[in-house]
Amino acid sequence: MSAKNRASALAFALPFLIALPAASPAQNRLAPVPVYSDSFPVARDLPYPGTIQLEVDATDIARSIFKVREVVPVVQPGRMTLQIPKWLPGHHGPDGEIDKIAGVTFTANGKTLPWTRDPYELNAFHVDVPAGVAAVEARFSFLSAINPRQGRVVVTPEMLNLQWEAVSMYPAGYYTRRIPVVASVILPAGWQAATALRQTATAGNRITYGVIDYENLVDSPIIAGRYFRKDDLGHDVTLNSIADDPKELKIPAAVLAKHRKMVDQAIKTFGARHFDHFDFLNAISDKIGGIGLEHHRSTEISTDPGAFIDYDNKVGDRNVFPHEFVHSWDGKFRRPAGQNVPDFRTPLNNELLFVYEGQTQFWGWVLEARGGMSPKQHMLDVLANYAAAQDQARGRDWRPLLDTTNDPIIQNRRPEPWGSYQRNENYYVEGLLIWLEADAIIRRGTSNKRGLDEFARAFFGIRDGDWGNLPYDRAEVIATLNAVYPHDWAGFLRDRVDAVAPRAPLAGITLSGYELRYTDEPNGATKAFAKGGPGGADFAYSLGFGVDKEGRLGSVQWGSPAFDASLRSGDQIIAVGERAYSEEAMKDAIVAAKDGRTAVRLTVKRGDAVKVYAIPYSGGLRYPRLVKVGKGEGSLDLLLRPR
Ligand SMILES: [Zn+2]
Repeated sequence: MSAKNRASALAFALPFLIALPAASPAQNRLAPVPVYSDSFPVARDLPYPGTIQLEVDATDIARSIFKVREVVPVVQPGRMTLQIPKWLPGHHGPDGEIDKIAGVTFTANGKTLPWTRDPYELNAFHVDVPAGVAAVEARFSFLSAINPRQGRVVVTPEMLNLQWEAVSMYPAGYYTRRIPVVASVILPAGWQAATALRQTATAGNRITYGVIDYENLVDSPIIAGRYFRKDDLGHDVTLNSIADDPKELKIPAAVLAKHRKMVDQAIKTFGARHFDHFDFLNAISDKIGGIGLEHHRSTEISTDPGAFIDYDNKVGDRNVFPHEFVHSWDGKFRRPAGQNVPDFRTPLNNELLFVYEGQTQFWGWVLEARGGMSPKQHMLDVLANYAAAQDQARGRDWRPLLDTTNDPIIQNRRPEPWGSYQRNENYYVEGLLIWLEADAIIRRGTSNKRGLDEFARAFFGIRDGDWGNLPYDRAEVIATLNAVYPHDWAGFLRDRVDAVAPRAPLAGITLSGYELRYTDEPNGATKAFAKGGPGGADFAYSLGFGVDKEGRLGSVQWGSPAFDASLRSGDQIIAVGERAYSEEAMKDAIVAAKDGRTAVRLTVKRGDAVKVYAIPYSGGLRYPRLVKVGKGEGSLDLLLRPR
């Protein structure tokens, strides 16, 4: 029914309805309509009979448009359902960009086949296939974002990032790991590409890859660029880099050596590997959309310009390399049972992300140290910042850690009004704290003979060379921990993951020979992140906010003095007392207020309004750091040592 028809139908119906006598609601109730199409083809564990031919033309970089031609063999006449992936594993949510798919047509034997979209499964298109048709040809475009407000930018004049989930459809009704595909891509002239896929043919700018199943195809994206460099990191691991500017690719030998050592340390730590080859797909750019996305045999990473050539200052771009590499073991090979789904339509169950992401955060942090990418003191400072942030977040008063694993779906990384109360995705960093405590418990109980390394080898480091996936549940995590060191691990996880816990799990720090304290000087990592990043200052543990160089507040900590004064994110401090805003003026005012008689007086601009706030606060400057307690090497010192 069109909009015009709807209006005339209402004009007819309204007087009629008004004339009716009031009926009891029960009389007018019809049986509810089922929410899902019962007739939608359910994925079966059967080989798809035939190989999909997929061709992607990625040459239209001026308009950032990918053109797709796909030939799908027909199983039988009748309804065929072709689906664009919706639930994406590394995103932990239903992020498929169906809104950017346009120009969809289907043909068979030269005739157009009309399509309809499934009314409930909106990423799926149905076509009726007549008898005598061997294959359906689909054509469509992926209109990738041309500015960040529309989504992640994946094409720039110098590079592109092709993700197969945006430029392909799969026939519904089969496990996607049972659908064979031969994919090819046409790149802009002179560009070079990298991917976990291996090419079987090239013709001009066209690259054809060997047959692979659809699940692995989607797990094997491409980066391509005008400026390209490839480096061998050992262990069949390659660092592929593209950049906005070729000068970014003059990677110092010492920086490459750190990445080689990190790879070597990862393999020593886990003891087995789950790839035949692994490709870091690294874009050094401030034009392409940011990414750090794991795959089984590759990873998409973006870093800021300077990441390699100004390595000492760009401290914020290091951790993504070990983190995403660890995912080949934790998240891809070992996969939570609820993430081992048959297709890209089935919702992902995220409840084990405190292992999938939490332990990856832990090992990524350990390997940044073991690989010599950052000095040990930097890693201790980072740990202090993690611990302080988790301990302070007042969202922990109402929300158990387990529930934050739903955030990729319910919050989906949108900017938050009150992040410290919403407790967004805390399973990463608090997961690290929990696994640090597990390590410390094992080390204490075994006189440092064992630690979480033994868990990693038993859980992730099995079946060398197998790059399938081995699902697990919480019971197996607990059983493996108990095999390493008997303890009440079920209760340990219940208290820290399932229950509301007003304080962060800090015992891993104290058991390891350190203590979290607050001093009046930011630690080295905080200073380095500010220097290598956008700048700004951190008053999170004193007044309760971070602030950019212009005095604009980032998130305001729930329950902090700033919160009590009704300040909020986006407010701009234009003056501190009688002085124009500066970090120094703020620090001076906070120190002066320690006498308990002077409030911190801030002149704040919010939209068109300007208001003066007198904030009673006498706690002085407060910044977290770890302080060593006890003598000799504690278990944290031992943990961070290279193997
Ligand atoms: Zn991750």
